[in-house]
Amino acid sequence: MYQGVNASEGIGIGSVMVAVDPDLTFEPHEVSDVAAEKERYQAALAVFCEKTQAQADHMKVAVGENEAEIMAGHIILAQDPGMTDAINGAIDGGACAEQALVDASTMFENMFLSMDDEMFRLRAADIADIRTGILAELLGVEVVDLSVLPENTVVVVHDLTPSMTATIDKDHVAGIVTETGGRTSHSAVANSCSALRNGMTAIVDGSKGIVIAEPEAEVLSDYQAQAKAFAEEKAALEAFRGQETVTADGIKKILACNIGSPNDLANALEHDAEAIGLFRSEFLFMDAAELPSEEEQFQAYRKVASALKGAPVIIRTLDVGGDKEIPYLHMEKEENPFMGFRAVRYCLENADQYKVQLRALLRAGAFGDVKIMIPLVTCVEEVRAVKALVEECKAELEAEGLKYDENIEVGVMMETPAASLIADKLAEEADFFSIGTNDLIGYTMCADRGNDHISNLYQVYYPAVLRSIKNIIENGVNAGIMVGMCGEAAADPLLEPLLISFGLEEFSMSAPSILRARKTISQWSKAECDELAEKALACTTAAEVKALLEAAAR
Ligand code: PEP
Ligand code: MG
Repeated sequence: MYQGVNASEGIGIGSVMVAVDPDLTFEPHEVSDVAAEKERYQAALAVFCEKTQAQADHMKVAVGENEAEIMAGHIILAQDPGMTDAINGAIDGGACAEQALVDASTMFENMFLSMDDEMFRLRAADIADIRTGILAELLGVEVVDLSVLPENTVVVVHDLTPSMTATIDKDHVAGIVTETGGRTSHSAVANSCSALRNGMTAIVDGSKGIVIAEPEAEVLSDYQAQAKAFAEEKAALEAFRGQETVTADGIKKILACNIGSPNDLANALEHDAEAIGLFRSEFLFMDAAELPSEEEQFQAYRKVASALKGAPVIIRTLDVGGDKEIPYLHMEKEENPFMGFRAVRYCLENADQYKVQLRALLRAGAFGDVKIMIPLVTCVEEVRAVKALVEECKAELEAEGLKYDENIEVGVMMETPAASLIADKLAEEADFFSIGTNDLIGYTMCADRGNDHISNLYQVYYPAVLRSIKNIIENGVNAGIMVGMCGEAAADPLLEPLLISFGLEEFSMSAPSILRARKTISQWSKAECDELAEKALACTTAAEVKALLEAAAR
């Protein structure tokens, strides 16, 4: 069994096909017959374009117009006169076609990478893709074609490139395992290209992030049953698409999605998200080589705000430190990073840098219902300090004549025991609460979420955690502010009736859990939830709570 990180829900079972990166190394050499070298390049380019066109034609029928267009776009980019001129120029200077291609394409790639607009930055990956394709033709190396796959194929790749994503034969792929990345694949497992071999039977459990190669008969049949049940449940949940989220007795709830970048939007909306309950802005910082500028951040936030068409978008300000490292910030190594200089603590100490983000958020607020959320709050002073910076930013934007949301809401991520204990005081300062159970459980139980030895303690069902959640929700509700939850627990069908009883308004989760949560919420009335909550709060141990909730589950 290979453990990796989970990247998307579901179980895939099939036969492994390892799509190894082609060996594109070459010896750079000087050419004397410049005309012949240019011709050699043109011939390779022509074959590349021909193959790409054939793939696009196939995809138009098999995959979809959009994907086919992405492929056709590669042909236009590859034939771009600027690129051709740069390559011919390098060959004129004596470079071989391979080196000329690498130099020219790298120059264009870097140019795209340095652009503010994300659309342009995505082109950089397309350029890299084209380079691979043409270089393979020049060197006579085979590139694996993923557009036609045998039924039930588990594709194993080092990294999923844009052309792979666009061309992959979606009808026949059972699972995708990558060595790097994760957000667009089913499972990301280190060294999978060398560990898994062609023809092996493999189970990809996307939810757990594991790959089981050559499973024993019993394991295989167990997973086959799970896969069947999963597919059936998925089909049944379609009845909840497009419906309102209401309890059995008609109380309206908001079902929101957690995202890490504007790239996750399509998936969120496809799964029927009504709002964005948590945009983890640190991914914008982690995916970059240096601090993203105000403009870059503004574009990313605006994109999400506009796409939500007036529905709320809660954007958490930089939650750096602990499990979230950003190398170029060069933060000092600490003995105990989870209790250290991180999140809002770091941001307040670096106010000028923080204001760049706050200004971008305020400006994006002019394009939708953007709300600012402060992570890792432990005292009222932090909330006041952030709000003071927000006011400073508003005054600056006003003076500069830039559009912004003067009534932007500033809320608190409730994820520390300290915040929970002063929930009444924080509710006087905050416009909303969102409970981060991932950290709240950890800090309440003093149990690291990633430590297997104490995973038994890392459970939402402990009475200490339940009381804390209840306290936060009740204090928020009493103060008349919106209370949501964006930690994993919001998607737990066992816990959801208790959250309804406590008065939680917004449930925010990863996209694939949304329809299932809508179903669970629809199955419970407030009175039934209250009855269950009373019993749960009377329990002494986590095991009792869990058993009670399991017995009551619908
Ligand atoms: C949380 O702590 O519950 C949360 C949602 O944030 P993260 O998992 O990013 O710390
Ligand atoms: Mg957290």
